Amino acid sequence: MASRMLKRAGISPELCEQLKRHKIESCKDLLTHTAFEVMYAAGLSYQKTLGILETVSKVIAPPLTTALELWKHYSDSCFSTSLPALDKVLRGGIPCGAITEVTGPFGCGKTQLCMMLSVVTTLPKELGGLDRSVIYIDTESAFSAERLVEIAQNRFPDYFSSQEKVLQMAGRVHIFREMTCQDVLCRLEKLEEILISTRAGLIILDSIASVVRKEFDTTLPGNLIHRSKLLGQQATTLKYLAHQFNIPVVLTNQITTQIGHQGSGPLTEGDSGIVTAALGNTWSHSVNTRFIVQYVDGLQRQLLVAKSPVAPFAVLNYTIQKEGICMNGNDGEETFYEGTDPSLQPIREVLVLRTSAVPTLAT
Ligand code: ATP
Ligand code: MG
Repeated sequence: MASRMLKRAGISPELCEQLKRHKIESCKDLLTHTAFEVMYAAGLSYQKTLGILETVSKVIAPPLTTALELWKHYSDSCFSTSLPALDKVLRGGIPCGAITEVTGPFGCGKTQLCMMLSVVTTLPKELGGLDRSVIYIDTESAFSAERLVEIAQNRFPDYFSSQEKVLQMAGRVHIFREMTCQDVLCRLEKLEEILISTRAGLIILDSIASVVRKEFDTTLPGNLIHRSKLLGQQATTLKYLAHQFNIPVVLTNQITTQIGHQGSGPLTEGDSGIVTAALGNTWSHSVNTRFIVQYVDGLQRQLLVAKSPVAPFAVLNYTIQKEGICMNGNDGEETFYEGTDPSLQPIREVLVLRTSAVPTLAT
């Protein structure tokens, strides 16, 4: 909330310009100065300055709402993934106004899912889309325009039979390549205006982990604290944007091996040697919904709904095809996960031929 720009907080353009000369651009900038400092920067009387501080404080205070209000607008608060089985488990789709994380081993389909969701966002509403554009922050240079078009043409062949529609879709996916933590944070902090001007309906960050892990060796003193602080800032900004624009934020994470796990049972304290989501416990609490993707065997992969405020643990099988993620085997039916918290189970990071230890599907 506090990172909202002053020009979006009911402050006149002239005053915004005046304050900008003193490096006061956001609500946070304003409220972290004393009234006298603001008075000096704005060139206003003390009374008028107090009025401005009050206006800005009110704008960033979280609005009061009721469960009834939220319930009435529930259908606007989900983004259909075009995967009916997953939408059903999630009571409509990926939640708007919240952060959804997809974590899993390399090559398992996280980026494929992001590209597929990008296509869906641009579709007209009658085809299940949002008719909005996409802000895609790519930290791994993994985004492929060719693959985006391939997914679109194979997933929605009728709609994308015309070249014009393909070009329109591709023109609505706005890519930002950010290769350092600081660049990602700067981009996020300046995203508000871009979200408005592009009418964005989805923010993707692929991936949160790669830049963080590249830059912070957490075995070195102080790095873990610094990393947590930076991740906290990124999470706060993402949450603000998701909430403010009532849009979903989807980000990908990688996996890490925790040292010391004994045996094959669930992860317990003091355990490891186990493959789990990267970036640690504090980060885990920042995401509202978490999917774990993992390998099963051959072409089969699994998506586990490992954390959700509205859905039980669930497991869905998928393959990656020309049209992106396909859950043909599960479409139309919910598949409950039988077992303890998937986040506490080792993630399958490589292709395996045995399927006996894979979580069972209850049909
Ligand atoms: P990383 O952690 O390295 O970013 P990822 O989970 O993002 O990995 P993706 O790039 O989404 O992985 O998926 C790569 C996989 O997608 C490939 O291994 C391949 O199996 C599959 N794939 C990519 N393109 C196609 C295609 N056109 N048709 C079928 N499968 C494809
Ligand atoms: Mg990827």
